[in-house]
Amino acid sequence: MEIGTIDVSPGEFDTGWLEVTGLPTGGAERLPLVVARGELEGPTLWLTGGVHGDEATGIVVAQDVVHEQLTETLCGTLVCVPVVNPAGLRRNARTSYYGDHDPNRYFPDPESDSERPPNTQERIDRRLFEEITDTADWVIDLHTARIDSLPFVIRDRVLYGDRRNSDDAEELSERVGTLAAAFPFPTIREYPAAEYLEENLQRSAAGAALNGAGIPAITVELGGHSVVDEGIRAAAVEGVYRAMANFDMFDDGPPSPPNRTSVGKREISPPVEYDVRRALHPRTETAGLVRHRVKPGDVLSAGDPVADVVTPTGERIDVVEADQDGFVISRNEGLAVFEGDPVASMAVRDDGALVAERS
Ligand SMILES: [Zn+2]
Repeated sequence: MEIGTIDVSPGEFDTGWLEVTGLPTGGAERLPLVVARGELEGPTLWLTGGVHGDEATGIVVAQDVVHEQLTETLCGTLVCVPVVNPAGLRRNARTSYYGDHDPNRYFPDPESDSERPPNTQERIDRRLFEEITDTADWVIDLHTARIDSLPFVIRDRVLYGDRRNSDDAEELSERVGTLAAAFPFPTIREYPAAEYLEENLQRSAAGAALNGAGIPAITVELGGHSVVDEGIRAAAVEGVYRAMANFDMFDDGPPSPPNRTSVGKREISPPVEYDVRRALHPRTETAGLVRHRVKPGDVLSAGDPVADVVTPTGERIDVVEADQDGFVISRNEGLAVFEGDPVASMAVRDDGALVAERS
């Protein structure tokens, strides 16, 4: 199997690089690669982290999952790209400095024609995407969310139409569900189809793999950004191994994760029993300073207060209430809010279908 500078035979482990664009200062922008290939045949899992440069826990999970001993029990191949966005990592920022674009919105979408020439970030994403679609049977993309966020798995809806019929979409969605269930975190469905397309999430790494290439893929959000959360890291490494075991990628059961810390793993059960989807919700109609009344994990009913909005001198001028049932994923960052701003990220009740026609 050849990827970038790596060429591994069965039973081999190697690290290397995938060049994705030239640099004005000489040399190339290159993504680090770690590949473990088992002696025995099996599927290929791609594990990516650091699509956003400040999402620390995702990067270290990708580093910790892969090691040389895996080749002894692995059936198939694990390809890890711990840092998909080195330009973001260098400045500890979400976006790259190639036009300050969000790398997770520029992966190819075979069903949308663009009239403009592709920008640098788009070209980088395309080169990585071509490598992924050449070999991947499954994709797990590791991210983090807002400060103090619960960890969760995002399950994208599978779109049907030109590229697949609804039966194939259902089957693909089922495989996505199996992948998501391997993690000890709540599964949260992605935005409904129209909003998903409006936000260009079919061009995220997992969205493009899933809806563009038809490869089962999930995004895992590993708590808050910028600092490694050791408890979530430990739980997520086990989650990846469990997913691999579910695809029969281990001859003899999943390996023990490397023991890096005395912090116990942090697993989170879903706080509600009904299906939920992600929503930036609720929103304030009043500008001011936000004083939250909730914390991540709180279960809310429609009508429950989520935050007070106060003046700079501390007088309450509004109460923002949930208008749907669900639970709090995180509070929005920043004390100041303008009209229309969300004050929280919530998982709200979802009765919609997991597959949808692309129109
Ligand atoms: Zn991210």
